[in-house]
Amino acid sequence: MRSYGTKRVLVTGGAGFLGSHLCGRLLDEGHEVLCVDNFFTGTRGNIQHLLDNHAFELLRHDITFPLYIEVDEIYNLACPASPVHYQHDPVQTTKTSVMGAINMLGLAKRLRAKILQASTSEVYGDPSVHPQTEDYWGNVNPIGIRSCYDEGKRCAETLFFDYHRQLALRIKVARIFNTYGPRMHPDDGRVVSNFIVQALKGKDITIYGDGSQTRSFCYVDDLVDGLVRLMGSDDSFTGPVNLGSQGEFTIRELAETVVELTGSKSAISYEALPSDDPKQRRPDNSLANEKLGWEPKVQLEAGLKRTIEYFEALLRS
Ligand code: NAD
Ligand code: UDP
Repeated sequence: MRSYGTKRVLVTGGAGFLGSHLCGRLLDEGHEVLCVDNFFTGTRGNIQHLLDNHAFELLRHDITFPLYIEVDEIYNLACPASPVHYQHDPVQTTKTSVMGAINMLGLAKRLRAKILQASTSEVYGDPSVHPQTEDYWGNVNPIGIRSCYDEGKRCAETLFFDYHRQLALRIKVARIFNTYGPRMHPDDGRVVSNFIVQALKGKDITIYGDGSQTRSFCYVDDLVDGLVRLMGSDDSFTGPVNLGSQGEFTIRELAETVVELTGSKSAISYEALPSDDPKQRRPDNSLANEKLGWEPKVQLEAGLKRTIEYFEALLRS
């Protein structure tokens, strides 16, 4: 029998980078966690340390198909997040965002469960407003190579708000900005893991374009804390709310910092910039700060050091 205050929580995409950290955090708080994943980009290794915990359960399942289970809260994280992976099978990416949202919202409706959507700064596209505030509608190409992800996530947000208006579902929408940390896949393709793995292997650091494009990098523990705070916030607060770091760096600055922190001899090489690659990105975090009392704490260098340690150990093994 569950003790008072313990919730049954579903984490879709729970074997992925963010999902595995979220599962750990929820277990630490005493909840029962059901991790659902189809292992497209997630791995068993990410959750290996949780498998012996009696409060943790793992289910291999693709959320584009309906799911019949009993839970109190749902974190919907399932979706490949790296451009390389979401562009690998773009039709499946859109299906995961849209059909996955419909299935998880249907589950939440039947259970009257609270549901949180892991949305993204990509809903702002290549933004003409800087920093990005939640009331900015974005600048998104509907037919480009990033569209399967961007438009899929935008449609998922639409579904969340229609279920909220039409069926009074309790929803939470987080717009997550670039997040990094241990358990990113070494072949993930995203910039932080790419640069660290390249630096540790002494390979060229591949900057796409001239490296003047900017991103803000949030450490995973901070981000997970934001998600948990959002889920716990008052029912009247639905978001969308930005969750990301305020520090904005050019990709060239990131490359130089990684080379310095790893002590690598890697050279920097410049490659073609993929189409529709956003030129700048930084969240305005005022809303998260006001409504959730949330602010990222881990500075880029400290977070990179922890991530480098993780990849060093991984590559050694
Ligand atoms: P990830 O690729 O490591 O994790 C995604 C997980 O979802 C993987 O375990 C994958 O196997 C699983 N998955 C994919 N399709 C599925 C399906 N159809 N059914 C079941 N499981 C499926 O990525 P991540 O960085 O952990 O991202 C998690 C979520 O956060 C994603 O929804 C992503 O869009 C969002 N997000 C992440 C970032 C970031 O910087 N990490 C930024 C913005 C948004
Ligand atoms: N990038 C890069 N080299 C890499 C991987 C990515 O220069 O090896 C650039 C990419 O073009 C983008 C930025 O780094 O401008 C962030 O890319 P990522 O794929 O991590 O996430 P995005 O924010 O583009 O979704």
